[in-house]
Amino acid sequence: MALIVKKFGGSSVANAERVFNVANRIIEDYKEGNDVIVVVSAQGDTTDDLIEKALEINPTGASKREMDMLLSAGEQISISLLAMAIEKLGFPAKSLLGWQAGFQTDSHHTIARIKNINTERIKNEIAKRNIVIVAGFQGLNKYDDITTLGRGGSDTSAVALAAALKADLCQIYTDVDGVYSADPRKVPNARKMDEISYDEMLELATLGAQVLNNRSVEMAKKYNVELEVLSSLEKKPGTIVKEIVKMEKTLIKGVAKDNNVARISIVGLQDTPGIAFKLFNKLAQYKVNVDIILQSVGRHGTKDITFTVPKDQALLAKEAIDSLEGSLNFQEVSIDETISKVSIVGAGMESHPGVASKMFEALCDAGINIQMISTSEIKISVLIDVKYADKAVEAIHEAFLNYL
Ligand code: ASP
Ligand code: MG
Repeated sequence: MALIVKKFGGSSVANAERVFNVANRIIEDYKEGNDVIVVVSAQGDTTDDLIEKALEINPTGASKREMDMLLSAGEQISISLLAMAIEKLGFPAKSLLGWQAGFQTDSHHTIARIKNINTERIKNEIAKRNIVIVAGFQGLNKYDDITTLGRGGSDTSAVALAAALKADLCQIYTDVDGVYSADPRKVPNARKMDEISYDEMLELATLGAQVLNNRSVEMAKKYNVELEVLSSLEKKPGTIVKEIVKMEKTLIKGVAKDNNVARISIVGLQDTPGIAFKLFNKLAQYKVNVDIILQSVGRHGTKDITFTVPKDQALLAKEAIDSLEGSLNFQEVSIDETISKVSIVGAGMESHPGVASKMFEALCDAGINIQMISTSEIKISVLIDVKYADKAVEAIHEAFLNYL
């Protein structure tokens, strides 16, 4: 007998048939004598549709408090429908909103963080042998206002609940059957991984492998919650995400691309101390998320600095730079939004020479020019022209991960 937290994403409960499919999977675990707590997201595109409705009323952006009030409605629908389906199949279920399940958050509406979960109510329901269905994505702040955890936040709800309840198992069900070495829709021989470490998953999650929300992986790592990512439609083992992974023959776990990148170049800066500080301090004040940074070697008293930011922050970055007019001298600023960041991720690469050169060779053979390179202990990223992004992923995947 175990305590199991299961999370089902929006596509897994998108219509009545799928709700019953999920209900049946839950009942299987329950019938074996397990305590089952289920976290669900809003059905299908409900959250997007609700955002649309808000924009109809206020196109320039409603207050965040009211957005939370609205968006949390999506999960209220899915939990009640799922509980009804379980009841219809003859088993006891109780749906709980975030606050009823004890989710206490800070007051950052639309991106709130969980501060504590008071698990008393859930434990009472479990003791009565009820299947507990919890609304993901939502909580309550200290003023008794509804908050939400940010898009894709139900994963975080599930992981937090598993940590608070010291669950034996935390299963994240989705419409893919695990974590792949590359996007299986784009790379036909992408391989499903049996296991992946938190750090590797975090890199892949951040790089846009849209399986798990990255905050949820951070939380899983922090509280050492072992996760399984698996399909809600097919019955087969998924991918386990945990701290220590058995040594595999592959150093590289996956290849991912991120097209949400803009490159900003500032040409002809003065080659004197404090320039980089001035620039990045200002960008930090403007809350711009800077990723890769490259500074050229100074020549004739000038230097260039190039860096990348998420595409939707490019204009903000430009504003920050413009605000430095008078105190920072340079010749010109250029912004390029037609780029992609392609990365390989693998915890073993730091102690193995030759990984970078193999990646660059694959790109060279494919005739793809590299604009910038950055490395960390478990990742190598290159910046390339966005039109070659898919080709680059395929070529690199072929070089490192093709066993066929
Ligand atoms: N329904 C919310 C969203 O679409 C939360 C989630 O899906 O995890 O972002
Ligand atoms: Mg959703």
